[in-house]
Amino acid sequence: MISVVIPAYNEEENIPILYEKLKKVLDNLGEDYEIIFVDDGSTDGTYEILKEIAQKDKKVKVIRFRRNFGQTAAMYAGFEHAKGDIIITMDADLQNDPEDIPRLLEKMKEGYDIVSGWRKDRKDPFFSRKLPSMIANWIISKVTGVHLHDYGCTLKAYKADIAKQYRLYGDMHRFLPALAKRFGAKITEIPVKHHPRLYGKSKYGIGRTIRVILDIFLVKFLNEYITRPLYVFGGIGLTLFGVGFLIELYLTVLKLFFGQDIGHRPLLILGVLLILSGIQLVSTGIIAELIVRTYYESKGEKPYIIQEKINVEEEK
Ligand code: UDP
Ligand code: MG
Repeated sequence: MISVVIPAYNEEENIPILYEKLKKVLDNLGEDYEIIFVDDGSTDGTYEILKEIAQKDKKVKVIRFRRNFGQTAAMYAGFEHAKGDIIITMDADLQNDPEDIPRLLEKMKEGYDIVSGWRKDRKDPFFSRKLPSMIANWIISKVTGVHLHDYGCTLKAYKADIAKQYRLYGDMHRFLPALAKRFGAKITEIPVKHHPRLYGKSKYGIGRTIRVILDIFLVKFLNEYITRPLYVFGGIGLTLFGVGFLIELYLTVLKLFFGQDIGHRPLLILGVLLILSGIQLVSTGIIAELIVRTYYESKGEKPYIIQEKINVEEEK
């Protein structure tokens, strides 16, 4: 079964058209499907329109948020409620094309866990959209080691068990493939169509650039150090401490053996600062270790994910 998850925030003009197009494509697949619309606290007629569609078509499911929680939260809710083995996400604004879905599914059959859309010919403004996103894509792919041209494209297909592993906060939907690296997912991309937005307004401005940069740090951390934060903080901390220690040692030698005055030297303050920040960072690392342990244990989550088991009894 296939679940299509669509976050929608004030998209009343787009939804009826999207639904018709989507239905045509999905009916032709010859597989069971559901369409999950997540109304992210819309203040226009989005919910009423969805309700009307869902009353006629039982394959359409609607989740309505009490207020606007953001696209990431909407996708998370969609993943949680999806019944399919494969989950497809797309935008409600008709910028993604439902006709690309069969090709995504075709590619999934080659054994991938995530197939990501690549808006090769993107129909968005250059300076406010395409340029920042080109830079972001380049950095994300360098930093995370997951090489995609277009992280920002919502049109993607996921194996459900991968999608359901996510715990999503903030604006992390853009990083779903990069985060999936943590789960050992096999990821690829295919070019998809992209259309200009005809109805309604884009929900994001240039302001998201800063959030994306911060998120890159977070993803790097989550992917590589979540189970051992002490190595990150402790590593930097020890280095700073070491440099500070050498500086002070040098000054002590000057003072004791050469009788020089060191009280007025900026180096003295630098050394003290480095030693103190070093100690602070190491302690932060230790506290982070404790938090990470609490994190895994409170959730009953394991720091590993098993792909398959042979002849292994289920634990009680
Ligand atoms: N969206 C949402 N909640 C939000 C912002 C956006 O559910 O707080 C939905 C929106 O309705 C659309 C998708 O996320 O279906 C992508 O938003 P948008 O088209 O504004 O982003 P852009 O294409 O401009 O990057
Ligand atoms: Mg859009």
